[in-house]
Amino acid sequence: MKVARKIDGKAKAAKLTESITLETATLLEEHGIKPGLAVVIIGENPASQVYVRNKKRTAESCGFHSVQHSLADDVSEQDVLQLIDELNNDPAIHGILVQLPLPEHLDELTVTQAISTAKDVDGFHLVNIGKLTAGHMADTFVPCTPAGCMLMIEDEIGPDLSGKNAVVIGRSNIVGKPIAALLLQANATVTITHSRTKDLPRVVSGADIVVAAVGRPNMVKADWVKAGAIVIDVGINRVEQTIDGETKSRLTGDVDYDDVSTVAGAITPVPGGVGPMTITMLMANTLRSAQRAAGLDGE
Ligand code: NAD
Repeated sequence: MKVARKIDGKAKAAKLTESITLETATLLEEHGIKPGLAVVIIGENPASQVYVRNKKRTAESCGFHSVQHSLADDVSEQDVLQLIDELNNDPAIHGILVQLPLPEHLDELTVTQAISTAKDVDGFHLVNIGKLTAGHMADTFVPCTPAGCMLMIEDEIGPDLSGKNAVVIGRSNIVGKPIAALLLQANATVTITHSRTKDLPRVVSGADIVVAAVGRPNMVKADWVKAGAIVIDVGINRVEQTIDGETKSRLTGDVDYDDVSTVAGAITPVPGGVGPMTITMLMANTLRSAQRAAGLDGE
């Protein structure tokens, strides 16, 4: 029997998008500034194409100036860096995002570090990562997926996580490490686990908050999870499923949703959990960047 509350990321994201749209209209009306988001996509990766389409559509629905640069798979690093330089110097653009992963011949670090720290709405620049880690939140950009996770956790148990144990599964720079930094900032006692962690189920079972960002379908089971824990499933995995002889692919998370729902206090579904919140946080970061450009705090 399910006991967990389903955390509806889609509904939360829609509500947030509404307030971003209102703030965008006010910014235009009172200061003549329209938030501008530039998305650069390189190559034909089908998942990336879907993500970029969703980002563009959401940016437009918020009332942003939205541009997309689609570059060929074999574009030179010099051409990518030149485009980023142009966008860095374009006053109509407040946020620049280069969709990852990049084709192999391009160096991810070189490309992400070329983006101006003031327009780094993905929060991947080392300066912004440093500020986040040091707790200088006022003028950094928090990476979108961890920022969305934190909002959902805060909605469940409030902003102060004093006394709570949080276990993060996965240590990537995009999700695991920044979410751990945010949880720590909110006073949680944080454990970061990864592929070399010994007896992961035992470690996870001590958590009041579990964040799974691994990329392994249905890995986290009910007997790993403490009764009443908040479970945030970041994983997006495409799996094949055969129903009535027909094979279809569907998305699933890193958490076995049906199983874990029998013990957790609250849980995010996949799809419809962290994913929609991630896109909304990108909009929030871009709006904030535009507000800063207008000399407004944006807090
Ligand atoms: P990654 O591949 O960079 O990192 C995966 C992490 O999982 C690594 O730190 C690794 O040590 C750990 N890991 C691997 N096997 C493990 C195991 N058996 N036990 C414990 N830890 C293990 O991945 P990522 O970029 O952090 O993404 C993780 C997942 O989240 C993927 O499914 C990705 O698609 C998804 N994702 C979703 C969003 C979103 O918006 N919802 C955003 C980013 C990533």
